[in-house]
Amino acid sequence: MTKSNTYKAGRHFLSVPGPTNIPDRVLRAMAFPAMDHRGPDFQNLSNNILKKIKLIFKSEDPVVIFPSAGTGAMEASLANTLSEGDKILMFETGHFATEWCQAARRYKLNVDFVPGDWRTGADPKIVEKKLREDKNHEIKAVLVTHNETSTGIKSQVEEVRKAIDSANHPALFMVDTISSLGSYDYNHQKWKVDVTVGGSQKGLMCPPGLSFNAISPKALEAYKKSNLTKSYFDWGQMLENNKSGFYPYTPAVNLFYALNEAVDMLLEEGLENVFKRHRRHADATRIAVETWGLEILAKNPIERSDSITAIMVPDGHDSDNLRKIIYDNYNMSLGTGLNKVKGKVFRIGHMGDLNDLTLAGTLSGVEMGLKQSGIPFKKGGIMAALDFLSK
Ligand SMILES: *Cc1c(COP(=O)(O)O)cnc(C)c1O
Repeated sequence: MTKSNTYKAGRHFLSVPGPTNIPDRVLRAMAFPAMDHRGPDFQNLSNNILKKIKLIFKSEDPVVIFPSAGTGAMEASLANTLSEGDKILMFETGHFATEWCQAARRYKLNVDFVPGDWRTGADPKIVEKKLREDKNHEIKAVLVTHNETSTGIKSQVEEVRKAIDSANHPALFMVDTISSLGSYDYNHQKWKVDVTVGGSQKGLMCPPGLSFNAISPKALEAYKKSNLTKSYFDWGQMLENNKSGFYPYTPAVNLFYALNEAVDMLLEEGLENVFKRHRRHADATRIAVETWGLEILAKNPIERSDSITAIMVPDGHDSDNLRKIIYDNYNMSLGTGLNKVKGKVFRIGHMGDLNDLTLAGTLSGVEMGLKQSGIPFKKGGIMAALDFLSK
């Protein structure tokens, strides 16, 4: 282990699936004196952001911004729409779906948590079946983690929407997009999502500390009837204050500068180009993994995430040992296996502000680490990825 007081030349390679690398433009945008959050300058900044952020959610619905981790917006989605004892339908796609389920249970919601193997996404067929069987409409909401960051699984949100529609069921639809928003296609409006949950530190290239709820008119109706306790995360006071661009408390002003700049960057590149870039880097990563002869945790190709790849290490090997070797020797951080897949997978984040050479650096570090770790693998993943990227 390198001593922490030893200078490590070159930049640390942050290849975890969030927080992601913060572009210099965003860092610089934050270096600004404090301002009066009840004055006209903040009001301008805030009104501008509240308008622009809707383009990222592809939504005309209001988007509220909390000064909190993404977990706060997950809690807000529940507390603002549901009542004690309400039945909700969720899928065990991995760690973050499990966390959302636990939050729901702490709120005394009655969660039907469809068990999963952490290798597959939310199944639209199960959604349709469960909703059809629910003749009395006891299920109040269907909750899906769009991009399960712990397993690299993309759930088919549009297909789940279709399943809810074909069962002709009135349940609310809530989606956690913390690690897909701004990385691959998501459409709050078109997919008729009632509450979309977002966070600042993944595809949005900002520091951690801001979280989002995009709120449909149907979710606002549900808010009026919801009896769960809410205070800090109450939508009502937030929306009321937001009408004039203000907040019910001191907002994270400097993070707003960051968000403003980051959204501009995404719009300058063009969202569809951002999505293509992520797809290309995900494909290159998958080509490298397949060449190494290692297995991607996500079983179904269609469910493989474009923002993070979770890679299994063979039985008898410890993925955290590989991560340690790579950290110590190449000054690179890779995502650890969380919860049920601890020690079994490592995760490559290919999300946010990166280009071909950034990804090539990451894949090189992995291939060198594999060699040193004693994990059996075939050489040449990096070359196969470079071939793909230079086609
Ligand atoms: C990162 C992440 C979270 C948690 O976000 P925090 O900011 O750490 O609270 C939740 N869900 C998903 C899908 C995530 O990627």
